[in-house]
Amino acid sequence: MGAFEAVRGFFIDSAERLELEPSLREILSRPQQELVVQIRVPLDDGTVGVYDGFRVQYNGARGPYKGGIRFHPQVTLDEVRSFAALMTWKTALLNLPFGGGKGGVRVDPHLLSLAELERLSRRFMDSVGLLVGPTRDVMAPDVNTDARVMGWMFDEFTRRVGHFPEVITGKPLALGGSLGREAATGRGALFCLDYLIHRDERSAKDTTVAVQGFGNAGSWFAGLAHEMGYRIVAISDSKGAVVNPDGLEPHMVATHKLETGSVVDFYAGDTTECEEIFGVDADVLVPAALSDALIGPNVGFVKAAYVLEVANHPVAPEADRALADRGVKVIPDILASAGGVVVSYLEWAQNMQHEQWREKRVNSRLKEMMEEATEVVVARTERDEITMRQAACDISVDRVAEAERARGYL
Ligand code: NAD
Repeated sequence: MGAFEAVRGFFIDSAERLELEPSLREILSRPQQELVVQIRVPLDDGTVGVYDGFRVQYNGARGPYKGGIRFHPQVTLDEVRSFAALMTWKTALLNLPFGGGKGGVRVDPHLLSLAELERLSRRFMDSVGLLVGPTRDVMAPDVNTDARVMGWMFDEFTRRVGHFPEVITGKPLALGGSLGREAATGRGALFCLDYLIHRDERSAKDTTVAVQGFGNAGSWFAGLAHEMGYRIVAISDSKGAVVNPDGLEPHMVATHKLETGSVVDFYAGDTTECEEIFGVDADVLVPAALSDALIGPNVGFVKAAYVLEVANHPVAPEADRALADRGVKVIPDILASAGGVVVSYLEWAQNMQHEQWREKRVNSRLKEMMEEATEVVVARTERDEITMRQAACDISVDRVAEAERARGYL
């Protein structure tokens, strides 16, 4: 099953439960607009690199399309479409005044020099620039794109159109970025988990956690969870996993990764294969790497009672059903990984008002918004006796459908 088909499956289930009218099912089951571009980048050796670029605008009924840009060799239109759909449900669930979109370029950025990466970023913005704008489509970072890339894209846009910092979020602070943005996805996921752990009458210090993926989202999550008292017993990246049942110190693992390029061979733990992370003895499993991490063949290894989806779509539908059957609580991506887009919204709002908030204010608003959304999802889960994913999806679809009806699209 393709990535988009899998994500669309969750929508179709919701549409059934909500008895959505046929025209809205049509409207919401596919993107409003897609752009596929050929990006030509002059390379340092005098040749020209040619890459496929995508921007998908899934639904804009609730506000400008919103979503990140990914640079990765496996990016496909189908995958970008699936993330654009997820963004639509995510922004609605968090009650942000945005729709959903996503972009990507099929490229291995690690093979490019810094100058080539800058040219690629500028050419991408140049190619999709007609679609974007502060009240049309607001872009942001994702896998392999960061504040520096956002800065180049911002510069490319503002040179042509004028100074609109709110056209892109996740920018460097000097260009109107928000304090707290870099840590926001990990921090938001932690607020969500901590709310549920306390609600289940457990405590942080008695809860063990395994984190798959140690990039932006995973490393911030692990570091902050450790500070809050959670015991991080395993961490992995694309090269392997490091395990210590007595607890790892994520800041030390991060230093080790910085020095050696990976978490493997960290001195205070046992190194093992990537896949071993799923079977580690931990109360909470946190997939924070790429899509389809948990699939039919490996879901049986999971021992955790909670799966916190920090990555986008890390649990394939068959694995999701298997976890639900076993009573594992899966905290869905559209809730657990929403911290990044919440602080993107706060950045956009600050830019609109020409303000710069203190980090404490940003973090406290993030906490409030993540906890409110978690509470609403839990209430719906209990009321309708469904999973958290089904509840989150129902709430989102309901909200987008209501906006569509109010616009008179029927
Ligand atoms: P990143 O590129 O910074 O990190 C990705 C990490 O995953 C790296 O440590 C990499 O080594 C690891 N990885 C890749 N393959 C792996 C494997 N097979 N096993 C274990 N680890 C593996 O990316 P990121 O920004 O941290 O994003 C991670 C996920 O979170 C993505 O799914 C992304 O869409 C999602 N997400 C990120 C943000 C954000 O603000 N960064 C927001 C929402 C969702």
